[in-house]
Amino acid sequence: MADIGANVARVRARIAEAAARRSRRPEDVTLVAVTKTVTPERIREAMACGLRVFGENRVQEARDKIPAIAGASWHLVGSLQRNKVKEALRLFEMIHSVDGLPLAEEISRRALQAPGHPVDVLIEVNISGEPQKHGVSPEDTAALVSGAVRLAGIRLRGLMGMAPAVPRPEDARPFFRSLRELRDRVRGEMPDVALDELSMGMTDDFEVAIEEGSTMVRIGRALFA
Ligand SMILES: *Cc1c(COP(=O)(O)O)cnc(C)c1O
Repeated sequence: MADIGANVARVRARIAEAAARRSRRPEDVTLVAVTKTVTPERIREAMACGLRVFGENRVQEARDKIPAIAGASWHLVGSLQRNKVKEALRLFEMIHSVDGLPLAEEISRRALQAPGHPVDVLIEVNISGEPQKHGVSPEDTAALVSGAVRLAGIRLRGLMGMAPAVPRPEDARPFFRSLRELRDRVRGEMPDVALDELSMGMTDDFEVAIEEGSTMVRIGRALFA
């Protein structure tokens, strides 16, 4: 069994070092502990080590787990089907994986019927261009942002992206940089849209992602494996 306390300390130190390399403050990078396949007991242990923000990638798995854990903030980091939106809104404070206007519209519609709206959302961009990856294409991102930002009940906070599997973390850098540059470009076209959050970086590449401007790292294995 992994020593979660030691892992949390190590990951936090690595986040701080990566942030410092860019004169960024460590507290400007949110650690989202990804708990797919992690048991509620271990999640509570992680909370005892100071973690508060957790990510799940499937509504189904989260539905059974989240109610067993009090006092945490939950993010949906995996893809969301429209027929699961209502359930997702009961469970999650932020959805990282909005990849089209129909999904954004459904979230808006359901959020307006639910207590606790608006819900925070990120637009997932397919920065690797791999066909099996989710996300809107970089070319279509500005159009989706301009559509989503008009919807009531949702608060568009930024973009999310995933680098492809690469042999060295350094090889992920151009993908993260492209997401930040895309965000800057879209923000240039729509100055009233904040897009402050960049959800990028996982166990194998989070330090490079932070150097490229990540504000949310989604980390599973480095904490729980
Ligand atoms: C599993 C998962 C993560 C965490 O991956 P690790 O490599 O274990 O850090 C991050 N984001 C998403 C969308 C995931 O499904």
